[in-house]
Amino acid sequence: MKSLWRDSDAAPYINDPLLARVYSSRLLGKAPNLVLHGGGNTSVKSSIINIFAEEEEILYVKGSGWDLATIEAPGFAPVRLDTLKRLASLDDLSDAQMVSEQRAAMIDPAAPTPSVEAILHALIFYKYVDHTHADAVVTLTNIKDGERVIRNLYGDRILVIPYVMPGFILAKKIHELTIDVNWENIDGMVLLHHGVFSFANDAKTSYENMIEIVTKAEDYIEKNRHKSVSSSNTLPTITAINALMLAEIRKLVSDMAGKAMLAALDNSASNLEFVNQKNVAEISCRGPLTPDHVIRTKRIPVILDDNVKQAIQNYGDEYKNYFSQFAQQHHQCLDTAPRWATWPHNGTISFGASISDTNIVADIVNHTINSIQNAEQLGGWQALPAKDIFDIEYWELEQAKLRKSKNTNSFQGQVALVTGAASGIGKACVEKLQALGAAVIALDISESITTMFNQGHLQKTDILGLVCDVTSDVEINNAIEQGIAAYGGLDFVVSNAGTFPHSSTIADMSSDLWNNSINTNLTSHQKLLSATIPYLELGINPSVLMVGSKNVPAPGPGASAYSVAKAGLTQLARVAALELANKKIRVNIIHPNAVFDTAIWTNEILEKRAAHYDLSVQEYKSNNLLKVEVSSADVADLVCTILGPSFSKTTGAQVAIDGGNERVI
Ligand code: ZN
Repeated sequence: MKSLWRDSDAAPYINDPLLARVYSSRLLGKAPNLVLHGGGNTSVKSSIINIFAEEEEILYVKGSGWDLATIEAPGFAPVRLDTLKRLASLDDLSDAQMVSEQRAAMIDPAAPTPSVEAILHALIFYKYVDHTHADAVVTLTNIKDGERVIRNLYGDRILVIPYVMPGFILAKKIHELTIDVNWENIDGMVLLHHGVFSFANDAKTSYENMIEIVTKAEDYIEKNRHKSVSSSNTLPTITAINALMLAEIRKLVSDMAGKAMLAALDNSASNLEFVNQKNVAEISCRGPLTPDHVIRTKRIPVILDDNVKQAIQNYGDEYKNYFSQFAQQHHQCLDTAPRWATWPHNGTISFGASISDTNIVADIVNHTINSIQNAEQLGGWQALPAKDIFDIEYWELEQAKLRKSKNTNSFQGQVALVTGAASGIGKACVEKLQALGAAVIALDISESITTMFNQGHLQKTDILGLVCDVTSDVEINNAIEQGIAAYGGLDFVVSNAGTFPHSSTIADMSSDLWNNSINTNLTSHQKLLSATIPYLELGINPSVLMVGSKNVPAPGPGASAYSVAKAGLTQLARVAALELANKKIRVNIIHPNAVFDTAIWTNEILEKRAAHYDLSVQEYKSNNLLKVEVSSADVADLVCTILGPSFSKTTGAQVAIDGGNERVI
């Protein structure tokens, strides 16, 4: 592990204790093998002159809700040091009392709630305190004989602390263990099954102590583990994505969780190596890397086999047993669904109500399986007993973190597929569906689809833009497979792709013009529907929306190739509504008209058309009974309403969105 400290970068901050604290906290936060997703915390002790012109010692400690990677000065809660130290001398303090006393001791009531480790930070003699859950150190404490390995590796300058619950109990323990300690003689503490502390009187030394402690553990692992698992102990890998079974798994997990869940597949080489080990069930069910992961991942994964239904059912039953074994009266059982899975031949799966949740789970899983692999080669993976994990999973302070992130968007956990998604109505539908919490597979023939929805991130985002020619079965199937691998299933299809061929009378019709329109505006929708039905059958409140046209009820001369295709599409949707009703898949149609904020309608064309009817552009745009303009966003609102619960008892319906048209009415 390399130190990221640069004297030149730190120079502007180094004379301000809090700014120096921000600088080195961010260095820790940048390293995922030190801290993951809000894990770890840091502090600095400093003094202020209060309103009575007295000097007061203050502990600036990471506030909850802030991430070390991006923390700023206001992310540190300023708490009176003296109060924190006095709290440590109490015999007993409930977590709720501790949080309340810590908040009451802040000099700024608007600051974030101090970390649950604030008292512990206060007890440490040094000015700067850094705390991480470094993979390498925690891995060593999670092997058989880990404590002895740690003591031998670090010698006397590192204090070793046996596992106790974080919060007041841990602070109390450290208080007792350090009463007679000469702080000058120690550089850090290793907390078994939890993490590591480093400290010093300046930010740089404290940070670099952390790097040194972690590097020692990494070197030890590198030197002592054997190379990769021998192939005789592993199963072969299947290269094709088993999308249909993944959708079934996601459906079973969602049903068990009582809400729609995404299921993200990771079939990278290292994850496949892990799930294909013949002893995968045994090694992955001993427990998590650190107890605080449990609120994201549950204690253990579901171990899938050929009978996924039975495996998930068993997981739920075992979770209920675990709950009743350890629960006290005031505990309420959480949903019994797993948050990750090992799936032989296929990879690992992360479950979550949103893509940010599945990303967090996936990160934790990747760090965990790497640690398990290492630990297995160093004497054997040995996590904390289930009781200790339960205490964290049902700890009020951890549950409060989850409640804070609860999202109540109506399409949370659901997956939509939109075609023709790079412009106009399609693009507006993607944006609206995303705003309502859905993950969206956005297909378009234009290359721009892969970058237009801000997809420059390394991590998966809630819109997957894929280039797809919807007239090709092969391309449709590939796109669906990729979409299912990313999100686990499919609930909504917005079949929108289309072209508007130039005007031609039947007498002048070229067969190319006719065939192209029928192919794109009709046959491609049939192909998409046929390909998606097996997934919709496994969907959650599944619903299909076909984008028709005013031309269906009110055709115009010169547009037969378009009108016939859209009329055929309408009939296709009506038959689909009949065929799919017994599977609870709804199919509805909208007929938009005169939606001008799309790529084909330039100002120039608009002016020409308006002039043709002797109207101003504004009059032309709102040339309907209600005299209103219909925008792509208006259409997207209607699409989402029809897909959603308001239309849960409607199928086979046709809804116009045209500002009112006397020919249609
Ligand atoms: Zn910790």
